[in-house]
Amino acid sequence: YQGLAGRSTNEVLQLYAAHGQQMKFQRSSVVTQLHGAIKKRLKEDLKSLHSFALELSKDFQRQSKTCLYQVLAAVQGIQLQNEAMQMFQIKAFDLEQSLQEVTERYEKEKQKRKALHNSLIELRGNIRVHCRIRPLLPFDDTAGHSQDRQRNFSEKVAYAADDETVLVKCSRPGHASVNKTFQFERVYNDLESQDAVFADVAPLLTSLLDGYNVCIMAYGQTGSGKTYTMLGPQLEGSLAFDIEEESELGIIPRATQEVFRLISEKPPGSYWVEVSVVEVYNNEIFDLLAKDSCGKVFGVKRDVVTTREGKSDVPLLTHETVENASEFLHLVYKGLQLRVTHPTLVHAHSSRSHLVVTLTITTVVFGDNFGTLWEDEQTSQRLNKEASFTFPQKMRDNKSTSSSRASSPVQLEATEKMKQVKTRLQLVDLAGSECVGMSGVTGAALRETSFINRSLSALADVLGAIAEQRAHVPYRNSKLTHLLQDSVGGDAKLLVMLCISPGQKYLTESMQSLGFGTRARQVQRGQVKKKNFPVPSKGK
Ligand code: ADP
Ligand code: MG
Repeated sequence: YQGLAGRSTNEVLQLYAAHGQQMKFQRSSVVTQLHGAIKKRLKEDLKSLHSFALELSKDFQRQSKTCLYQVLAAVQGIQLQNEAMQMFQIKAFDLEQSLQEVTERYEKEKQKRKALHNSLIELRGNIRVHCRIRPLLPFDDTAGHSQDRQRNFSEKVAYAADDETVLVKCSRPGHASVNKTFQFERVYNDLESQDAVFADVAPLLTSLLDGYNVCIMAYGQTGSGKTYTMLGPQLEGSLAFDIEEESELGIIPRATQEVFRLISEKPPGSYWVEVSVVEVYNNEIFDLLAKDSCGKVFGVKRDVVTTREGKSDVPLLTHETVENASEFLHLVYKGLQLRVTHPTLVHAHSSRSHLVVTLTITTVVFGDNFGTLWEDEQTSQRLNKEASFTFPQKMRDNKSTSSSRASSPVQLEATEKMKQVKTRLQLVDLAGSECVGMSGVTGAALRETSFINRSLSALADVLGAIAEQRAHVPYRNSKLTHLLQDSVGGDAKLLVMLCISPGQKYLTESMQSLGFGTRARQVQRGQVKKKNFPVPSKGK
């Protein structure tokens, strides 16, 4: 058994070993198989990886190429833009230079324009006469005449033959009709608008801001269109003006608008505009803006005096500061309202008195920049001489300083360095000029008529004296001429607007007005000869 057991054990061991070998053998063949499979798979993977990497690198190459192209294009673009930029810079520089040249040229042209404007105004003379013929109106027919004469009376006899000529058909019973012509600087026909009239007036206002006093007056008989031309149409029977109708506004409101516009264009100095409204009635001056202690308005008599400097002045006259044209208009209409309602001022018709609206422009200049305010040397030198160094009342008065653009406390301290210049624009609606004869007139009407006659002939005398350059000009012969002295004489500019009714009925009055205008024009010719033909001085 022991032997058997031994053999069996051996056998078992052998079997065991054989089994082990078998197992080993088996295992190694699986491994080989697996290994083979893995190897194969690995090979495949490697291959695909290789091809992927190859593809990837190709793709990368492609992409980097396109990027490179893009970068190159961008660089090129930048270069182009840089060049363009440089071109633009050069262009901008050129433009800047030419702008500077143009600005310099513009400044020179401006100076030239200014000089030309002044010579033009001077060549036209300090007195110019325009004539406006109003249209025939329904009331030209009514005069209580017989039918037969009425037809004759409403016939039109005064025409504008052209821009500078008035033609009047003069016919007297039993005589052949004669055509008479009158020449003026400008003649307006019955269709010409308020716009057209103002267009010729506006240049005078430029002179106003250049330091000249200016006067614009309407002369003519009652009903010839003086108030229409100066202010605008009046509503039926009242003095309420239809301010809404801008196109119908007359010279006074338009001139004010223009003055404020011109001031706004000036270099910032300190300007203020004051207005006074007076009426000259029976050779008395009435302040239409005066107020009593309760602030109620009433007409107060004032007097006109000559100051030590030889200028005309109305002591105590109310001057209201205005900041714009509508404030101004409000005041003027308030004054006009009084003209018809106040008991001491009541007279049959507003045409029995002279209305004088005065705009005073005060310019204050601080420090030494006086010359910068006026473009040409001559004007600033002239004004520099006239400038007064006094501290203006308005600046002292705290209430009114709001009207001044430069009245801060700091500037108020700089009083010694301050100069002021005043220029005046006087706008005049004269009394009706029809009162040549006084037959049949009595009492108050006679008084009125004789005062109007006297003041209008005093005006004619003053213009005559200026024409002949007489040493003495009789300004003081009437309150009207005394009041207007500074804006009629000296180097002031005067525009007479003759107003003419075209109807046959008014022939005598129209001829009288045209005669007045013609005489005033001779004044101008006399002055032109003496004043304008010498060689222009430097800066002109
Ligand atoms: P005056 O002030 O000279 O007495 P007005 O200005 O009051 O005359 O004019 C008299 C009338 O004639 C008014 O009704 C006015 O509206 C009218 N009128 C005057 N001029 C013209 C004109 N150019 N166009 C139209 N109507 C006018
Ligand atoms: Mg009138």
